[in-house]
Amino acid sequence: MTEAEWLLCTEPREMLREVQGKISSRKLRLFVCACCRKNQWLMSLPGGAETIQAAEAAADGTLELSTVGKSVTDLLARSRQNPDYDDELAALPLLLGVADADEVAHRVTSIIDGSGLNSATRRWCVDALRCLAGCPFPHSLPEPATFSSRLAKATAGLVHLLASHPLRQPTKSGRAEAPVPHAAPSWLTSSVSALARQMYESHDFSAMPILADALQDVGCNAETILNHCRDVGTPHVRGCWVVDLVLGKV
Ligand SMILES: [Zn+2]
Repeated sequence: MTEAEWLLCTEPREMLREVQGKISSRKLRLFVCACCRKNQWLMSLPGGAETIQAAEAAADGTLELSTVGKSVTDLLARSRQNPDYDDELAALPLLLGVADADEVAHRVTSIIDGSGLNSATRRWCVDALRCLAGCPFPHSLPEPATFSSRLAKATAGLVHLLASHPLRQPTKSGRAEAPVPHAAPSWLTSSVSALARQMYESHDFSAMPILADALQDVGCNAETILNHCRDVGTPHVRGCWVVDLVLGKV
C-alpha cells in the first residue's frame, strides 16, 4: 500500500494489515480497547467498563496482561447467558493481548458490529486507525521505472502534496522525505502536558483544538500536528499520535 492508498483507504481490515509490525502492540491493543468502548453492549455488561479500563492499563504497561486476560474471560463467561452474546467475543482476551494485526483484523470488525460494519462504524474505524497510526507508514512507493513517465510525474506531484503528512516516515531510500513530526522540548510546557494528559485519562478529546492553540503558543508550527488537532471530523482515541507525541508514548 502506498501512502496515497493509505490516505484513501476505507477498509479497516486492509489498514490493520498495513500497520502490522509498524505500530506498537500498545497502540494495537488501544485500538481494540477503543472498539470495545464503542460497543455499548459490551461496556454496559456488569464489569464491562472496568475490564476495558484494565485492558487499557495493561496496554500502557501498568497492569499485568495476564490479569486482564483472566478478567475478560470471566466477564465473557458471565455474559454467555445474555441473548446478545456473540461467539466472536470469545476472541477478546486474545485480541486485548495480541500484537498480531492480522488476527485483530479478522476479529475486531465483527466484535464492534457482529452483523457487519455499517458505514458509520467503518468510517469511525478508519479515522481511529489514522488517529492512532500517526507515523507508521514506510514510504514504499513503487519504483518509478514501473510507471509510465506521465504517471511517474503525477505520482511525484502527489507525493509532494503529501510531503507534510504525518504518515511519512524516514526511509533509507534516499528519496526526499519530510521529517517525522516530533515534539520539541520547548513545546512541552506544564500546560501542554497537562492538557494532553487530561484528555488521555478522561478519553474526552474535545480539547484537541485547544491543544493545537497551546502548542502554537509555545512555537509549534508543524502543520501536520496542528491540522490533526483541529480536524473536527477526527474521532481521537487513546493512543492518538499527537497526544502520544506530547506524552512521550509510542
Ligand atoms: Zn488523534
